[in-house]
Amino acid sequence: MTSVSLVDVTKRYGQAPPSVDRLSFTIEDGEFFTLLGPSGCGKSTTLRMIAGFVAPTEGTIRFGDKDVTGVPPYRRDTGMVFQNYALFPHMDVTANVAYGLRMRREPKAERADRVRQALDLVGLAPYADRRIQELSGGQQQRVALARALVIRPSVLLLDEPLSNLDAKLREETRGQIRQLQQEFGITSVYVTHDQAEAMAVSDRIAVLESGVLHQLASPREIYHRPATAFVANFIGRSNVVTGSLTGRDDQQVTVELEDGSILQAPVHPDTLSATAAVGETVALSLRPEAIAVDGPAPDAADREVGTLHARVTGVEFTGATSHISLTAAGGQELLVSVTDSQDLPEVDTDVALRPDPARIWTVTP
Ligand code: ADP
Ligand code: MG
Repeated sequence: MTSVSLVDVTKRYGQAPPSVDRLSFTIEDGEFFTLLGPSGCGKSTTLRMIAGFVAPTEGTIRFGDKDVTGVPPYRRDTGMVFQNYALFPHMDVTANVAYGLRMRREPKAERADRVRQALDLVGLAPYADRRIQELSGGQQQRVALARALVIRPSVLLLDEPLSNLDAKLREETRGQIRQLQQEFGITSVYVTHDQAEAMAVSDRIAVLESGVLHQLASPREIYHRPATAFVANFIGRSNVVTGSLTGRDDQQVTVELEDGSILQAPVHPDTLSATAAVGETVALSLRPEAIAVDGPAPDAADREVGTLHARVTGVEFTGATSHISLTAAGGQELLVSVTDSQDLPEVDTDVALRPDPARIWTVTP
């Protein structure tokens, strides 16, 4: 087991802007660490640099204290699971799982034992002699996992391992991967574009956009305290409104939105609320579940601080929660989720929205 550090790692392909731009972080020993972001943000490139398949243009990669930047993949002691599994279709399950051990010239008896253990681990012992084509997608994925684990790597790398499975199997399998990871305490780097998947399995998540790290924190922290407008929008659902900072004291900042409404947000250290100057543009993240819908809006003239005016454009009742879509006075689309569905507003009515002041979160636009 080991920690993995990236120090100012940049990857440029040709003349294009960097695919990965000065990434620095340390993945702790035994941690389940996820690289999350939309397609093309540099997740696979980062994972491949950790594996050694892609060389950084600049920067250093360390496993523990050891600089591995120039070390070839087969000497890094990593196990990798790919999106398309990359299994050998002409070999049976046992031969696929044994492959890494054969390359490492493990004795035959030891090999058989280890393969059996690995197949047990992923629940595939009865399928040892099957050919790959005779397995379902979920089973093939587990063969790929067994093949990565059988060499007992110090770092497990998983690149969108569940993306070829249907929704239900994806949820089951992510739970199993997390369980195996915790049992072994193996340092794991997981790549996904699916924020719910990332939230469900990770100790910490690194959110990337265009090769740049936006935030690195626990799932809860990322959800409740997004650093940027991008993170607030990408993780869960949020309403991000921008405006100009018009006043501040120790406790709160006052922000005037483009449509003239005025919101006040608590000051939190480490956010723009603590540092932005009067006149600066800031963004506020308003979670849909932290907004109350407050009946018909009063005249625009007597709008109150802390209130947004909006017109209801849709109401969706889904059982436990109802989703209300609205268009704000400034034209922005908003979403509100309520659990009490007794008193839902009618479509086309004007309402006042009151975001819970304690939960208005200032983010970098
Ligand atoms: P992700 O896994 O987040 O979808 P990638 O790491 O695959 O993103 O790609 C990041 C960026 O680098 C993309 O713009 C992609 O086109 C580019 N890229 C990835 N691999 C190569 C390559 N071998 N040659 C040129 N460009 C590449
Ligand atoms: Mg990828």
